[in-house]
Amino acid sequence: MITLNGKTVCAGIAFGKIYIYSRSESKIIRRHVDDVNDELSRFESARQQAYDELGNLYEKALSEVGEENAMIFQIHQMMIEDDDYLESIKNIIADQSLNAETAVAQTCDTFADMFASMDDSYMKARAADVRDVSERIIGILSGSSKKAISADEPVIIVADDLAPSETVQFDKSAILAFVTEGGSASSHTSILARMMNIPALIGTANAVNEEYNGKPAIVDGFNGKVYIEPDEETTEKMNKRADEVKRQREMLLKLRGVKSVTKDGQKIELCANIGNVSDIGSVLNNDAEGIGLFRSEFVYLESHDYPSEDVQFGVYKEVLSKMAGKRVIIRTLDIGADKQVDYFNMPKEENPAMGIRAIRICLQRPEIFKTQLRALYRASIFGKLAIMFPMIASEWEIVKILEIVDEVKSELESEGIKYSKNIELGCMIETPAAAVISDILAKYLDFFSIGTNDLTQYTLAADRQNPEIGPFCDTHHRAILRLINMVVKNAHANNTWVGICGELGADMELTETFLSIGVDELSVTPSAILPIRQKVLDTDVSSIREKIIAEL
Ligand code: PEP
Ligand code: MG
Repeated sequence: MITLNGKTVCAGIAFGKIYIYSRSESKIIRRHVDDVNDELSRFESARQQAYDELGNLYEKALSEVGEENAMIFQIHQMMIEDDDYLESIKNIIADQSLNAETAVAQTCDTFADMFASMDDSYMKARAADVRDVSERIIGILSGSSKKAISADEPVIIVADDLAPSETVQFDKSAILAFVTEGGSASSHTSILARMMNIPALIGTANAVNEEYNGKPAIVDGFNGKVYIEPDEETTEKMNKRADEVKRQREMLLKLRGVKSVTKDGQKIELCANIGNVSDIGSVLNNDAEGIGLFRSEFVYLESHDYPSEDVQFGVYKEVLSKMAGKRVIIRTLDIGADKQVDYFNMPKEENPAMGIRAIRICLQRPEIFKTQLRALYRASIFGKLAIMFPMIASEWEIVKILEIVDEVKSELESEGIKYSKNIELGCMIETPAAAVISDILAKYLDFFSIGTNDLTQYTLAADRQNPEIGPFCDTHHRAILRLINMVVKNAHANNTWVGICGELGADMELTETFLSIGVDELSVTPSAILPIRQKVLDTDVSSIREKIIAEL
């Protein structure tokens, strides 16, 4: 038995086989070829294979995500049939006697640069498509095409690290657990693992070893261990623990339908964070009182091009309808930093976490923002919608946002399109600046939601993506708790309510503190709702408040 040690980001126990997931990084080696005709036919068969793969992807996407989203694969098919693109590749092979990989890569660069330099934003976005199709062909030529998970049973994914865009593409039913060598607890991949409620470990040294591929293993997501080829004693111990977890879960399920009120009658709303319509099953199963954070950027991450107003409208309408009148807070897109989307064609930044991300993109490119707002307002008649804006740092941003919101409302009115008149508007408090001026921001807004993941990284100057940051990123740091206390005081003085939607909301060591501060709502991963409800039911705030506040 081999034991690996990692850090838990989602608890639970998983039994299954290891699947080493390696990202394709096709290194292109420039090589001269002796037989040009041979090379041309090698290219042609790779191109044909890519064409067939794209056809299969189109069929899969058509049944899973509808025609509008599936079309991208047809566009990709058209690209690899384009005369200019093919002529360029064939000329490089024939005239310079170069290998097909080099010819495709050079052509790809030329075409991608050409698209990127166009003024039209639709044409600009085609640069990412040329790259995508070219990488597919290069992958086939070099035998390093991106691995889909091709196991015939659900597996434990082991990887060096996973980007959010990779994680969202996995078929969730095929995954038992995630184990990564890199990563950090508040990275979006960890957040996704918690949302999927599967055991997940990060910072697991020496996990990516081809020798482990296919071997039976147990992930102990309570103690941060992976046992490869576990012995009998360990297997028995883990089976017992899994039974115990199941029993605890059954006890918690009895709390469905119970109000989240402390012993002395203080109410707190317990809501769920989601990134996808498919998470709603678990939201309802865990009896969330609403959705406190729908990370709408996942609609963009899962798409190959800007999702149209109608596509977004369909998603928001579905979430609102399924939540049947419970409040759904949809956050406008928070692209940037680790959540990169190729078709946005964002310039490279030295410091993307502090660069053009989230609301900054929306204010610089209002046409993208307005499309999302129109979709949100149109969907608002199907439930109880609230909208919130991420990464706010200044008052002028809110003023500008409200102006754009008013423009969208007037446009819809002049088109005779109905929308709800009771949409609450709020913003994330995830920069220290927003916390410090929360008294000013509160005058404009109905609610705040504190994003402790970013608030912690910016307050402590501790990169949330850096697994080495360890003790320098103390999530219980007084500075954070004092900021939360300050925001709640400022908000309540202005009739604005406050939730917490960062990962800290689910930290049960702080539930009593949040109740004492008077936080109105906690929005957490669905599986954390019932354990927190139990904690709330067991707490008498009046007996602890004074001491907790004095110690902040
Ligand atoms: C946060 O920063 O706490 C938050 C909820 O937003 P995200 O994790 O998506 O950046
Ligand atoms: Mg954030």
